[in-house]
Amino acid sequence: MEVSHFYNGKPEAGNGRQTGPVINPSTGHKLYDLDYADAATVADAVKHAKIAAAEWASASQARRLQVIFKMRELMLANIDRIAEVTGLENGKTLADAKGEIGRALEALEFATNAAQVSKGEYSLNVGGGIDVYSIRQPVGIVGCIAPFNFPVMVPLMMGSMAIACGNAVIVKPSEKVPGATFLISQLWQEAGLPAGLWNMINGGKEVVDAILEHPDVPAISFVGSTAIGEYIYQKGSAHSKRVAAYTGGKNHMVVMPDADLEAAANAFVSAGYGAASQRCMAISLLLPVGQGTAEKLIELIVPKIKALKVGGYNVENADFGAVISSASKQQVISSIETAIDQGASVIIDGREQQFDGDGFYIGATLLDGVTTEMDMYNVEVFGPVRGIVRVDSLDDAIRVTNSHEYGNGAVIFTRDGESAHRFVVEVKAGMLGVNVAVPVPVGHHNFGGLRRSKFGDAHMFGPDAARFYSDLKTISQRWPEADQKANNLSMAFPSNS
Ligand code: NAD
Repeated sequence: MEVSHFYNGKPEAGNGRQTGPVINPSTGHKLYDLDYADAATVADAVKHAKIAAAEWASASQARRLQVIFKMRELMLANIDRIAEVTGLENGKTLADAKGEIGRALEALEFATNAAQVSKGEYSLNVGGGIDVYSIRQPVGIVGCIAPFNFPVMVPLMMGSMAIACGNAVIVKPSEKVPGATFLISQLWQEAGLPAGLWNMINGGKEVVDAILEHPDVPAISFVGSTAIGEYIYQKGSAHSKRVAAYTGGKNHMVVMPDADLEAAANAFVSAGYGAASQRCMAISLLLPVGQGTAEKLIELIVPKIKALKVGGYNVENADFGAVISSASKQQVISSIETAIDQGASVIIDGREQQFDGDGFYIGATLLDGVTTEMDMYNVEVFGPVRGIVRVDSLDDAIRVTNSHEYGNGAVIFTRDGESAHRFVVEVKAGMLGVNVAVPVPVGHHNFGGLRRSKFGDAHMFGPDAARFYSDLKTISQRWPEADQKANNLSMAFPSNS
């Protein structure tokens, strides 16, 4: 597959001045060299997008929705191809890739509600024959900067609602996994989306900076690490843009002594190690309440973790695949070494697993005795290393969970309503689960973290997305015959009393 930029309705090769390799994590081998765009290419794409967005803004909702429905059909028809490219470039298993595509479809399906969630309000005769109403209009062009771990879901979660609300998008996928986003770009075209509305520009910081600085791109959605998200939020805000940036997580899973421990153990292993732990909503830390709970849970989870099979994205019985890069594998290994140096103990050491070939594999690792002072507690590890933080009580569990700088997700396993209620009320995280280990909301609820897991007030996924991707105007109108007093001159500040 030839992967290039895609804008103004067609693939664009780029000038070849700067390229970077796209690697297959399952083999460690290069797939192809990707052209990295410069600011001039971004400006060219924006120029075409601006013309297309102006026309699309006045297209009827029905016209826009026809495209969204067709896109959904095409995604389903091409699901195997999209999953294959996702697995090839990202390393996740085909089953996991299909799960991701399912969530992307949910975003498209929810975007068919754009008319409902972006409709305005009307107040009749607020006083003096004046009616007040509000309308929402597209912002124009939205810059969407995506991470490597969801190359299908994140661009479509960002882009579907933006398009359905009448905007154009410039997507900058992760330079590590551009293939699936490129396929999606072609499908939008096939679905009948007018040229210039869905654009994909490859590259790194130079492309991102060009998007952030461009005066014709008023809104930015970002999903990725906290350091980069904070930079994007600050730079975008300095350029007077609205920014929604979803960033890192370190999700805590509290298990109370009264929980169904078998269910909790299964949930921890699946939510902790699925996708080689490269999910922002992965469970990173297990907090059993009480020593007895800790011992029983460890007894249950250890054989389940040891039974996990690590393999290539297309190996049928693999539970998870390689991590994204050689550098990432080294970071994961050094996080284990640091944890041991800082006093954690190893229950299962994934470094001992042997793998053939040059793929970036690492076995599932479980550490005990993690404390809030350790890097293993504080730093997000995007690889299959999970830690146990033993706590004595629910109070302790809530205090520890709230002490972390991140607040993406947090979950509790319990049969006790009072404990569950206290947890959801007192924990400062954006997405909470009660006996649900991956509380990623469905498309018609808002998604997003708190604290340093999210920058910017608005949500870019869910119903709030329609507000993020549109400008609000409020109109006060009076027709002269409704109130003759309008003809009198008054210098007082208008009021409705
Ligand atoms: P990343 O921050 O390295 O990259 C994200 C995007 O930013 C990519 O497109 C990348 O090219 C670009 N980028 C990288 N360096 C840049 C720079 N210096 N200036 C401007 N742009 C730059 O993140 P990643 O490794 O691709 O993804 C993993 C991270 O994403 C994890 O921290 C994970 O928690 C987070 N994530 C968060 C959510 C969420 O909803 N909160 C969802 C998925 C992933």
